[in-house]
Amino acid sequence: MQVAKVVVDVPTNQTNHSFDYLVPPEMVGLIKKGMRVSVPFGPRKVMGFVVNLVAESEFDKLRKISQVMDMTPVLTDELLELGKWLAEETISLYIQAYQAMLPQVLKAKYKKEIEALTFEELPKSLQKLFDGRTVISFDEFLQRNGNYRELHKEMKNGHVQIHYIVQSKETIKKVSFIEPNKELYLIEEAIQDLSKNAQKQRLVLEYFLKNNESVEQGDLLRACETTTSTIQALIKKGLLKKIEKKVYRNPYQNREFKRTKPLPLSDQQQVAIEPIWKAIEKEQSEVFLLHGVTGSGKTEVYLQSIEKVLQKGQEAIVLVPEIALTPQMVQRFKERFGGEVAVLHSALSPGEKFDEWTKIHKREVKVVVGARSAIFAPFENIGIIIIDEEHETSYKQEEQPRYHAREVAKQRGIYHQCPVVLGSATPLLESYARAKKNVYHLLEMPDRMNNQVMPPVEIVDMREELHAGNRTMFSKRLLGAIEERLAKKEQVVLFLNRRGYSTFVMCRECGDVVKCPHCDIALTYHKSNHLLKCHYCDYQIPMMQECENCQSDQIRYFGTGTQKVEEALMQVIPDAKIVRMDVDTTRRKGAHERLLQKFQSKEANILLGTQMIAKGLDFENVTLVGVLAVDAMLNLPDFRASEKTFQLLTQVSGRAGRHQLPGEVIIQTYSKEHYSIELASQYNYTQFFLQEMNMRKNFHYPPYYFLTLINVSHPNQLKVMEVTKMISKLLYKHLTNDATILGPTPSPIIRINNRYRYQCMIKYKNEPMQHEIIRKILDYYYEDIQKNDLTITVDFEPYQLM
Ligand code: ADP
Ligand code: ZN
Ligand code: ZN
Repeated sequence: MQVAKVVVDVPTNQTNHSFDYLVPPEMVGLIKKGMRVSVPFGPRKVMGFVVNLVAESEFDKLRKISQVMDMTPVLTDELLELGKWLAEETISLYIQAYQAMLPQVLKAKYKKEIEALTFEELPKSLQKLFDGRTVISFDEFLQRNGNYRELHKEMKNGHVQIHYIVQSKETIKKVSFIEPNKELYLIEEAIQDLSKNAQKQRLVLEYFLKNNESVEQGDLLRACETTTSTIQALIKKGLLKKIEKKVYRNPYQNREFKRTKPLPLSDQQQVAIEPIWKAIEKEQSEVFLLHGVTGSGKTEVYLQSIEKVLQKGQEAIVLVPEIALTPQMVQRFKERFGGEVAVLHSALSPGEKFDEWTKIHKREVKVVVGARSAIFAPFENIGIIIIDEEHETSYKQEEQPRYHAREVAKQRGIYHQCPVVLGSATPLLESYARAKKNVYHLLEMPDRMNNQVMPPVEIVDMREELHAGNRTMFSKRLLGAIEERLAKKEQVVLFLNRRGYSTFVMCRECGDVVKCPHCDIALTYHKSNHLLKCHYCDYQIPMMQECENCQSDQIRYFGTGTQKVEEALMQVIPDAKIVRMDVDTTRRKGAHERLLQKFQSKEANILLGTQMIAKGLDFENVTLVGVLAVDAMLNLPDFRASEKTFQLLTQVSGRAGRHQLPGEVIIQTYSKEHYSIELASQYNYTQFFLQEMNMRKNFHYPPYYFLTLINVSHPNQLKVMEVTKMISKLLYKHLTNDATILGPTPSPIIRINNRYRYQCMIKYKNEPMQHEIIRKILDYYYEDIQKNDLTITVDFEPYQLM
């Protein structure tokens, strides 16, 4: 008898453990740990993960597994363990943790198909099932009682293949290839026989004399500068033939990657890389913090560390923030490691993601470059994990399981006995503090390559501009500088920390601000359709003509959005050719890349955008970076606001003068004296670190204290207040006296989607019982959560405090 322990896809507390199922005799040996199965659960069938296989069960009446969903395990033993750890660390359900590790496609509903790659070599029974067809559905296979064991064997032999079909879209893409249909000497003869005016046909045939292999039709057309009709003609003559091949969708197929070789390392790169190499060689699970200024050559250090790992036959994971996962960044890895690289980020379609994941799963690649979830890449022999821009908050998942990729990386680093490298020009305060205490191995690269100087930063006080009578959003200084650059045919990057046409609408008469009735935040005016929209929920209303409060017609929009800046710029600078990049212009797939391309090719001379242009971009011709309104960020209700401002200003400044031409940065602000602005303008991370640490110490924030944020939400405000109060009380009673419990307080955004939100925060140094206490509190409210629309979220390392 074989019994499978299965974690089922029924996301409730009561079902948050494994259930025993009998493995039917015909599936013994086929079902393995880490595969997904379909099992009966109550009256339904649900999906589940096999987390273990054992010889017996303490229960007597076991139900049988109904179906195997995978032919090979989708989760390795390591990932099964990791998922368990993840769920426990974040107080999530096991099923949530396992789901988080897999690509979307494997979570969604999909169909399976079996394709026969050969008929002759298949056993009779399968031949009969296929009945001359190349593809049959998996359902049919099941209905007609197909033999699993046989199928599995034939899969291993490479005679059949299983395809996952998502939402009726094929996950496998077909591409036409052209190849010679005759021996080469016959092709040569055919060339002699061609008439004089069949020049194009001649070119195509000659192509195959030189490259006697099948070639993608598109590539052939390009190489011979001809059209499909030429090829059709040759196919008709029987000289060429067309075959459809299945290929992985390649999101970067239109780009050609020249291979690059490792660069001779600079002295500081050499010093930084030695300890990493040593850890790779000795297989030590050490965490490094690579603090290197922008342009110090961190990426080259990553590349050559990976090189070492590949030489050892091991694999590498590289995490890059979603927003910085630009083609430029990907290109550097593809150029170095070519086909060994898989790329995972959210701009890929589900099918593309699945293809990339499959390459990892099948060990067809050795390097994965991706956003947060790529940390779960199912490699089995990892030699290094790199997290670039480690301070980025996008490494934290803001839904269950609320994990931080850095912590998962450390956990995997221990399992694989390999180094974890965290890299940044502006490390998270917590990370730098750990490095200072030798918890992490600190590697410093204070100089830019070729000793290029950082571009000088000038701070312009906007209050003075106002006093001088300048009511526009551009200071005289900035405007003059832009004009100067454009005249020299150089390029400008303008950064704005906002989105939309403008921010809020206010009455000049009575000061009333138009807010969302559900979310209590100011509505945003969108000029294109004359609407006021809420950016947290779907609420929208037409722009009003008069104030609802006092009926005055002096109602105006205030604040600045990218679209408004764009219009204002075009008015004052007629030569401006602007590329605007924000959430609105980059929504469509590929838009991001297209816009950057437009700027790169110098079709435009000003790149105007939000956060998304702050990172990773590298343009030779950019000599001026302007920051329009830094104050919005400084004043967010978040204890990291200063740190985030410092990081952002540093990063934005790094966009200027990265190459031959000298660069300059101009920051416009209403709070010139703020230390994070002043120190960012001096590129003084060390001083900023000390000053900010002091603040954190005084106000009991990380890294001196840990934080846990508990959020409660419910449609009824009284209910929320009552529950949050009770939670605070329970925490107060059961945690040690060293812990501080803040709240209950209303969240900074008190209402989202008609739900009231309250929170309480725990500040603590050491609370070994915390997880257990919180788990008990959640259990206590279990009924309310299940039945009465109560939500309680617990975040053990909060980055979003809104
Ligand atoms: P960072 O990642 O720290 O911002 P980069 O890796 O982008 O820095 O390096 C900045 C520039 O210096 C890039 O153009 C890169 O190609 C170049 N570079 C890096 N290392 C070397 C080296 N050892 N020799 C020559 N050029 C280098
Ligand atoms: Zn709203
Ligand atoms: Zn009014």
